[in-house]
Amino acid sequence: MLDILIYPDTQLRKIASPVANVDGKTVDFVDNMLKTMYDAPGVGLAATQVGVHSRIVVIDVSEECDSPLTLINPKILEFEGEAETQEGCLSIPEVYEKIKRPESVRVSAIDRDGEPYEMDADGLLACCIQHEIDHLDGKLFVDYLSPLKRNRIRKKMLKFIRDGFPESS
Ligand code: ZN
Repeated sequence: MLDILIYPDTQLRKIASPVANVDGKTVDFVDNMLKTMYDAPGVGLAATQVGVHSRIVVIDVSEECDSPLTLINPKILEFEGEAETQEGCLSIPEVYEKIKRPESVRVSAIDRDGEPYEMDADGLLACCIQHEIDHLDGKLFVDYLSPLKRNRIRKKMLKFIRDGFPESS
């Protein structure tokens, strides 16, 4: 299992580099990311969140947790509309806030087998793709909130880091 960095860890602000080629090491890492995401549990995880600054994202928004998606070097080609969704983040535990983003996106990426693909997404999946790509650019969902709210969340996380998380106590 990989360790997930907690906000405001400065590593979460690093911009990830593109993956040059998808080799065995990449596949192993993707599989570890998926395991870590399912275990958390979460619906998405970006490499940035485990301190690896490569443009790799895993997502599974299915209820059965049986539809893993791998997005290597993902890029949003088109976006449309606007939707407000309640978002959470494995790097910001127990905080959920409504965030406005484009409602649907068309994205290109490379899959776990090294094959390029394009896909259209809307709803929770579109939201999740945008949230995870933000991570690769050093951006977090709290950046969309007011400085006051963000600072409150920052303090809550620092307290968590100091005193331990409620689940583990
Ligand atoms: Zn996140």
